[in-house]
Amino acid sequence: MATEVYLVTGLLVILVAYLAMRVHQMMKFQGSMLVTCPENRKPAAVRIAWMRAIRAAALGKKQLQLCACSRWPEMEKCERDCLFQVERDPEGHKDWNVAANYFAGKTCVCCGKPIEALSHVDDYPALIDKQMKSREWDKLRPEDLPAAFENCKPICSSCHAIETLIREQPERVTYRPWERSGPLGEYRPEGENKPKNIESHV
Ligand SMILES: [Zn+2]
Repeated sequence: MATEVYLVTGLLVILVAYLAMRVHQMMKFQGSMLVTCPENRKPAAVRIAWMRAIRAAALGKKQLQLCACSRWPEMEKCERDCLFQVERDPEGHKDWNVAANYFAGKTCVCCGKPIEALSHVDDYPALIDKQMKSREWDKLRPEDLPAAFENCKPICSSCHAIETLIREQPERVTYRPWERSGPLGEYRPEGENKPKNIESHV
C-alpha cells in the first residue's frame, strides 16, 4: 500500500512540475509585443492569447494565436505570419524589453544624469520631441514606440515632471536660469539674481 502511495505522489509531483514548466514557458507570451508587420513592413503591436496557449500546453499541444493586433480590424484576415517573430524570441519582442533596451546606458538630454533601469515601482523615463514636449514612453501606443525612439531624445522622470509642469501650468512656474559662474565652479542664478561682481564674493 505504502509503495502505491509513494508511486501516486511521485506521479503527481512530476505532473505538477510539468504543468508549472509549461505554464512558465507560455508566460513569456503574455503582454504587448512589437513585431514588424509582414504586410507593410511597419511596426505593429500584437497580443498572444496566452491563456489559450497555457491550456493547450497543459494538454501537451502548442497553440499560439493572436488575440489582438494594432492593425485590426483592417487586417484581421491576414496570414498571421508575424507569429514566427514572436515565437522565435518572445522576450525580445515585449514592448517593455524593447523600451528597457532603448533606455539602457542612455543619459537624460536635459540634466545629463544616467537614466536608471526601467522598474515597475519607479517613475518611468520619458521621451522629449523637437517641440520640447515630453511624454512617458508607456503613454505612447506600442506600435509608435520605434518611431519615437528614433525621433525623440530620452529624458529622466524628474526632468519630465518639471517639463510637464512648465508646459501645463506655466503660471505656477518662476523661470530662474542658473549658470556655473561661482568662484568654485558652483551654480549661480543668472539675470536679475546674478551678483554684480563675482570677485567680491570670493
Ligand atoms: Zn534629467
